[in-house]
Amino acid sequence: MTPPPTRSLHDLGFAAMEDELRAAGVSAHHAKALWRALHHDGELYLTTGGRFSPPLQRWLADSVGEGKAFFLDAPEVMEDSHSSDGLTRKYLLRLRDGQTVETVLMGYDGRHTACVSTQVGCAMGCVFCATGQMGFVRHLRPGEIIAQVLHVRRVLQVTHPASRLRNLVLMGMGEPLHNYDAVMQALDAIACVRGINIGPSKISVSTVGVVPGILRMAAEARPYRLAVSLHGSTDRERSALVPISGRWDLTELIAACRTYGATTGRRIFIEWTLIAGSNDSLETAARLAELLRGIDAHINLIPLNPTSGFGGTPSTAGHAFQRVLQAAGFPCTFRQRRGIDVAAGCGQLRASSRAARAPLASNHAPSYGRSTPPSSSAGHSDRSSGVLKLA
Ligand code: SAH
Ligand code: SF4
Repeated sequence: MTPPPTRSLHDLGFAAMEDELRAAGVSAHHAKALWRALHHDGELYLTTGGRFSPPLQRWLADSVGEGKAFFLDAPEVMEDSHSSDGLTRKYLLRLRDGQTVETVLMGYDGRHTACVSTQVGCAMGCVFCATGQMGFVRHLRPGEIIAQVLHVRRVLQVTHPASRLRNLVLMGMGEPLHNYDAVMQALDAIACVRGINIGPSKISVSTVGVVPGILRMAAEARPYRLAVSLHGSTDRERSALVPISGRWDLTELIAACRTYGATTGRRIFIEWTLIAGSNDSLETAARLAELLRGIDAHINLIPLNPTSGFGGTPSTAGHAFQRVLQAAGFPCTFRQRRGIDVAAGCGQLRASSRAARAPLASNHAPSYGRSTPPSSSAGHSDRSSGVLKLA
């Protein structure tokens, strides 16, 4: 009996791909063509191409497909929503096991940015975040992270053929540094110049403050941008929003940011979700400036996309908060709440989608044409599983 498919071809790094070919008696130099087809061309149906060398063609026919050793990650589009300004497209993508994740394509100021998920759900339990309210389901494999980028790049090729996908943020569902190895493997593939080729300095890893992951990124000299979601200027203020701050307090987190800056020489991006009445006072802004003193930091203020029980800061108050930080010498941007009508806050599309709560078992080919009206219910959340304690 043929063994069931075991691994995704997208999960293989380049060296692993060479090893697989070699182990099957195929010269490793054929890995270049395979890598190019998968990552540069983003092909979905390798075995039907007939454009590969005969040995590679034979290996593909023997090894890739249902019932064979490898499959391709090709998530199915469950929902496709456009914001009313047409600048944000948000997808709910279904993975092979029926789980769903959110992937977003944003196109502001002539730049296109992919925002992808790194986990199904999240273990960190931030109280204002729809993903946090869902609980943790599982980590994504590298191939599942790469496949999201390939998906939005294919969309862009159709909608804006002259544009290239140049930016990536890991700000979808999940905590990237809780899934460190898979995330770094995926990013190395995404940044590969013979593949998707998004420059490492255009890739942002956003973390809620997983200190060991920040220090590891610094020690390993990872070339990606680091964004830290802070949201609180004291442990008390922060722990009311971000429960994981009980594990790594502000002193430890800020020390890790300083180490990161000193080791890499790179600027850190501080993400601050402005939540009405929680972390948006001018005193908080002043304390934040004090906390970050001496760190080369750029602060991004993001008004909350309202979730159950929490509201966003009005823009006048947001701009006042911004001015305090700017007066203290920090570059500080205040991001407009765009895409709110497609439930663009992290995890809100999945939380509001009935399709996502009824996962199916089989895998389907992706679709690029289907579109549903913008989703409007942003506040619904699923408390299916509890918050995972990190080991
Ligand atoms: N887990 C990582 C990355 C995913 S969340 C992190 O927390 O950084 C990406 C960003 O979205 C975080 O800064 C998070 O605070 C923010 N976010 C989550 N829910 C939001 C909402 N409802 N409105 C606005 N920003 C939100
Ligand atoms: Fe997880 Fe980030 Fe949401 Fe917090 S904000 S629950 S870390 S995805």
